[in-house]
Amino acid sequence: MRTNTDNEVMEKKAVAYVRISTEEQSTFSIAQQIEAVKRTAQVQGYILSDSNIFIDEGFSAKTTNRPALIKMLAFCSQKKNNITALIAYKIDRMSRDTADYLGIMKALASHGVRFISCTESIEDSPSGEFLSTILAAAARYDNAAKAERVSASIIQRIKSGLPHGKAKIGYLNQTLPDRRRIIVKDPDRFERVQEAWKLMETGAYTLQGIAKLLNSWKITTKKGTHQFKLTMQQVQRIFTDKTYCGYAISKKHRMEIKSDQVPQMISEETFFNVQFILSGRRKTTGLYQRLRTEFPLRGFVRCPICNNPLHAGFSKGKAKYYGYYFCRTPGHISIPDSKIDETFIDLLKVVTPSPMFRQDFLEEVKRKWNDKYMSFVKQHENVQEKIETLKQLKHKIAEKNLSGIYTDEFTKEQLDKVDLEILATKTIQSESKLARLDIEVVVAFMEGFLADLSKAFIEAKSLEQKRELVCSIFPNGLIFQQSKLEHLGLVDWMLYTQKVRPQISFSADERT
Ligand SMILES: [Zn+2]
Repeated sequence: MRTNTDNEVMEKKAVAYVRISTEEQSTFSIAQQIEAVKRTAQVQGYILSDSNIFIDEGFSAKTTNRPALIKMLAFCSQKKNNITALIAYKIDRMSRDTADYLGIMKALASHGVRFISCTESIEDSPSGEFLSTILAAAARYDNAAKAERVSASIIQRIKSGLPHGKAKIGYLNQTLPDRRRIIVKDPDRFERVQEAWKLMETGAYTLQGIAKLLNSWKITTKKGTHQFKLTMQQVQRIFTDKTYCGYAISKKHRMEIKSDQVPQMISEETFFNVQFILSGRRKTTGLYQRLRTEFPLRGFVRCPICNNPLHAGFSKGKAKYYGYYFCRTPGHISIPDSKIDETFIDLLKVVTPSPMFRQDFLEEVKRKWNDKYMSFVKQHENVQEKIETLKQLKHKIAEKNLSGIYTDEFTKEQLDKVDLEILATKTIQSESKLARLDIEVVVAFMEGFLADLSKAFIEAKSLEQKRELVCSIFPNGLIFQQSKLEHLGLVDWMLYTQKVRPQISFSADERT
């Protein structure tokens, strides 16, 4: 066998969880599960020592209240153990219950531990698929919501026409007696920068030329008492910034508001003339342009003749390039990407659940979750009690040490044990807290998402998110037939939202 001498390869350490319940003694023995997790660890390049295999015997999968599982979660949560994966024989070893499973997955994910099943991929199980989809979605939503909260005050400022952030070159920040922060003209530089804009508008200057000029005018940036020459990047930023024509802007939030609180340096006409000069003949890209150049459906759409996934690329027309999806086999099919985009948006509109079914579906999700939540509450109470008991136990141990019954060494050993158990118990406690928050995030996200799938697709921020969205709704891909896109099957949980409610189909039957 070849030995690996590459020092840069980090040791990947895993733990394994093995469980056998009283009712299924015969299905797969502890020994078989251990063998399987060891093999998986080896194949996937993880180090799995015997002491890192946690075993629960005779406990049911229905609750997370299993001693080895608790110990394992605590072990994974300790940074010094450096665990990056948890291996189990099957998903159902972890939990039979989706909410528990979700709690465990979330706890693991928060410590950077990925879950590996020896016998199935997470996506194999319908509930796993649903959960990983909404979990990923909810995590994104949660991040977005956090960013939104941070941004809310900035957005508020921009909406009321107040500029935010550090004043642009040519302006100064000022705080009014009523503590409002505004920007004012910089008496030293405002007119100079204005002059530079006018020169740029003539078209006679390059950015480099104007940068030299600005620097010769001692237009600099200040850091404390130091002054720095403007960099090319800073100069470029000046001449693309709408602040100068009197806008309160936030590029990050794609907001711009014409505001009389921003002293106007140049006219909008000047601004656009300069943009035109800077960009040459490059046209700004609109929404559909962006969708097209990225080919979000590449690989998802199949050829109606040979069923192979279509490729995508550009073809040169008279004046510009056009995007196409095409089959590699000549003569099969070639469709302008605008057509694919258009029909895909149509398809999303078709599968978007009606408000009634959407409501039903989310009610069902909430109901299931709330049932689960009640057991979480109960578990939480038990956990509180348990922690109290453990704290009392620590007192007793300390007392016995003081009265000379326990040696120092034995006392330390016992206290460490109890501490670990407290830590593990607390892990469970924090999970049950998380569960409550999650459902609100998940439902809020799902509500918006299911209300308008085409909007979700168009507004997805990256190509990756778009592709993920396509994947999570149409796992079997799409096919272009009779000049429109059709899907080759919806994901299970979407099917639920498509179902016709019994009473409705009944009355429809009566009429026919
Ligand atoms: Zn083909």
